[in-house]
Amino acid sequence: MITLENVSRRYGDFVAVRDISLEVQQGEIFGFLGVNGAGKTTTLRMLTGILKPSAGRITIGGFDLEDQPRNAKQITGYIPDRPYLYPRLTAREFLYFIADLYNVPGKEVDERIDSLLEEYGLLDWQDELIESFSHGMKQRLATAAALVHKPQVLVIDEPMVGLDPHGAKLLKDSMRRYASEGMTIFLSTHSLNVAEEVSDRVAIIDHGSILTTGTVAELHEQSGEEIRNLERIFLKLTRGATYTERRLDEDPPLH
Ligand code: ATP
Repeated sequence: MITLENVSRRYGDFVAVRDISLEVQQGEIFGFLGVNGAGKTTTLRMLTGILKPSAGRITIGGFDLEDQPRNAKQITGYIPDRPYLYPRLTAREFLYFIADLYNVPGKEVDERIDSLLEEYGLLDWQDELIESFSHGMKQRLATAAALVHKPQVLVIDEPMVGLDPHGAKLLKDSMRRYASEGMTIFLSTHSLNVAEEVSDRVAIIDHGSILTTGTVAELHEQSGEEIRNLERIFLKLTRGATYTERRLDEDPPLH
């Protein structure tokens, strides 16, 4: 459902993502793990068509993101780590706006929005301005917005940041349910317990390269660790990882 073939992304001379290849099957929850600056967000932004790869090819549901970007984007939902929501719209207005962008058929819109507002606990606040919302409510609205066009692929950057335990549980349960209904979910996180809890398979990225891919059980076997624990495997594989983050004002221009 998602394929990346030899994908790289440079910022000037700096290689943020280096020659990565991955395949994610329909209905899979795929956890994308890495330390700060490893290249997770850059990869997610390429998967959603926001950033162009410097090299390589990405397909979503068989659509090449370069040649058929509209088809690929139409079946993708994206929950960024810092979603931008228009503060002067109400929750309901915002969902109408997104539904319209994705051409959700008029007769389905109200039913779809009602059910998402209910699922994400926002029915009572549907007519309030977004600027009055707490962080968790904004996260839940961003999640509802990503789902309004019934995407086949859901890309989530740091899903649990800022969610309280109820919000986190709601999202984990929802992800499992969506996947069981056939949705493919690609989530980036540095929260290893979240990854271990929900992912069918994981990949670990470090300094822009994929170190390993597999189920947590497979990674455990490869690691030779006695105790099955994703944190130990992660720390062992990324040992010596130094933070690669750079100040944006130091970067050379893109080319
Ligand atoms: P985090 O977990 O901290 O969000 P990440 O794994 O998502 O990190 P990216 O945001 O993809 O990492 O960044 C990968 C590298 O590319 C980092 O070194 C970062 O500083 C650099 N980088 C990201 N965006 C830009 C940009 N617009 N211009 C230049 N360098 C960038």
